[in-house]
Amino acid sequence: MAFPFSKSKLPEQLFINNEYVNAKGTKKLTLINPRDGSLVSKNCPIADEQDVNIAVAAAEKALPAWKKMADTERRNILAKFADLIEKHSEELSELTRITLGAPYGAFGKFEVGLCAEAFRYYSGWIGKLGGESWPAQDGFMKIVRVEPLGVTAGIAPWNGPVGTVGLKAAPSLAAGNCFILKPSEKTPYGSLALGHLAKEAGLPPGVFQVLSGDGPTTGALLASHMRIRKISFTGSIPTGKKIQEMAAKSNLKRVTLELGGKSPAVIFDDANLENAVSWTANNITANTGQVCFAASRVYVQEGIYDKFIAGYKQAMEDKRNAVGDPEKKETTIGPLVDEAQFKRVSGFIERGQKGQGKLLVGGQRIGDTGFFIEPTVFVDVEENSEIHNEEIFGPVSVVRKFKTEEEVMKISNDVEFGLMAGVFSQDINKALRVAAEFEAGMVGVNCISAMFLGQPFGGYKQSGLGREGGKEGMLAWMDHKTVFINTTY
Ligand code: NAD
Repeated sequence: MAFPFSKSKLPEQLFINNEYVNAKGTKKLTLINPRDGSLVSKNCPIADEQDVNIAVAAAEKALPAWKKMADTERRNILAKFADLIEKHSEELSELTRITLGAPYGAFGKFEVGLCAEAFRYYSGWIGKLGGESWPAQDGFMKIVRVEPLGVTAGIAPWNGPVGTVGLKAAPSLAAGNCFILKPSEKTPYGSLALGHLAKEAGLPPGVFQVLSGDGPTTGALLASHMRIRKISFTGSIPTGKKIQEMAAKSNLKRVTLELGGKSPAVIFDDANLENAVSWTANNITANTGQVCFAASRVYVQEGIYDKFIAGYKQAMEDKRNAVGDPEKKETTIGPLVDEAQFKRVSGFIERGQKGQGKLLVGGQRIGDTGFFIEPTVFVDVEENSEIHNEEIFGPVSVVRKFKTEEEVMKISNDVEFGLMAGVFSQDINKALRVAAEFEAGMVGVNCISAMFLGQPFGGYKQSGLGREGGKEGMLAWMDHKTVFINTTY
C-alpha cells in the first residue's frame, strides 16, 4: 500500500475504527512551520466530546477480541507495525518536521526509530508475563494473573511526537489493551499518519486510534473520561498535575506521568575531559535543547574547571555553526518549535543576564525569520536563580564550579526535578557512590541522557510517576488478579 501522506497531503482527519473520518468537532488547530514562521494549516481537527465518545465506544467493542487474540498473532501484528514505521521513517519524520523543525539525520530518524523499536521490543513481551502460581500448602492453590486494563489513552508532547507514541502505545497494545492517542496540538501529523500503518499492519478496528486536538478540549476529555482506565502522559509538570487530578476526580484511572527535568552533569577533576565536553555539549543541543532529560546543569570541579570551560565554549560555538534549515541534510540543529517557545527561551536568556550569571557563549537570535537561537551557556550562575532552577527547554545550560563531592551532591539534588543525572570520573567507586546518591530515575556514568527500551525510564520527585520501558513499562498497562482455589473441597 502506498504511503498516502506527505507535506503536500497532510493527514487532517481523526483516525477512528481504522478509518480517517471527519471530526464532529468544528474547531481546528493552527499549525506553523518554525523554520520560517509560515502557516502550515488551519484544517487539523480538534476532537470534541462526541469524537472522544465514538473512539471510546469503538475501543470497547474491539477490546474482547483483541485481548483474547492468540499471542503469536498479536505479536506478529505489532512486529509488522514496527517494520512499517521503520520503512516509512522518512515520511513520518517529514510530517513531524514541518511543525517541529527537527532535522531528519540528527533527530527525526532517531525518534521514529525509537517508535519502531518500541513496538518490536514490546511485541516480544507478549506471552512472557504469565503470572505466578503457588502450590496448595495451606489448602489453597493461588494463581496471580496479569491482565490488561481495558481502554487506555496516551497524551503526547510536541518534542518527540512519534517516539513517545511507541513508549506508550506499544506496551499498552502488547498487554492487550486498546489505545487512544492524542498527539500535541503543535505536532499532530506524524502521529495521525501512524493510523494508516496500524491498519496496514493488521491491527483490528478500534484497537489503535488517533484523535488530534488541544489539551483543554481533547486532552481533558480523555483524562476525565469515565470509561478510560489508564492515561499515560508526557509533558510539563503543571499539566501532569492537572491530568492526575482529572484522573482521580473521574474514575481513578491509572496514571503514568513523564514530566520535566533539569538534569545535572557532575564532572570531577579526574574525568576524561574530551568525553565530558562532548556528552554535555551534544546533549544540551540535541533537538535544540527541547529534551526532557537534557544536561542543563553542569557542575565542574575546580581543578579541571578552566580546561573544561575552554573545551565546552569551543564545542558550543561549533554547535552554533550546526544550526540551520532543518530541511537541509547537513543541518543538525533546527529552530525552536514555535514563537511561544522562542519567547520563553529568549526570556530566560534575557533575565539570566540581569545578575543570575555570566553569559559565556550564545544568547542571540539567529536570522530574522523562523525561531532559531544560539546555543547558550551561562557560567558563575547563582544557586537560587531562575536559570539554575527552572527547566528552560532550549539549548541553554548553566555552569557552576564546585570543590567537594558533598557540596555538589547537595546542589544536584536540591531541586524538585529528578529525571536524569550524569557523573564523569575515572574513579569507579566514586562514580558509583555518586550514582547511588543522585535523586534521579536515571544516571549515566561517564555519559548522560541515554535511554534504553529494555530498562525503566522515568523520574523521581516531580519529574514523574511510574515508568516507561522494560518490564516495568509493560506492567504499567496491566493489573494483577489473585485467583485462589480451595483444594480441600
Ligand atoms: P504540555 O504539558 O504543554 O503538553 C503536553 C500534552 O498535554 C499536549 O498533548 C497537550 O495538548 C496536553 N495538554 C495540555 N493541557 C492539557 C489539559 N488541561 N488536559 C489534558 N491534556 C493537556 O507539555 P509540552 O510543552 O508539550 O512538552 C514539554 C514538556 O514535556 C517539558 O516539560 C518536557 O520536559 C516534558 N517532557 C518529558 C518527557 C519525559 O519522558 N519525562 C519527554 C518529553 C517531554
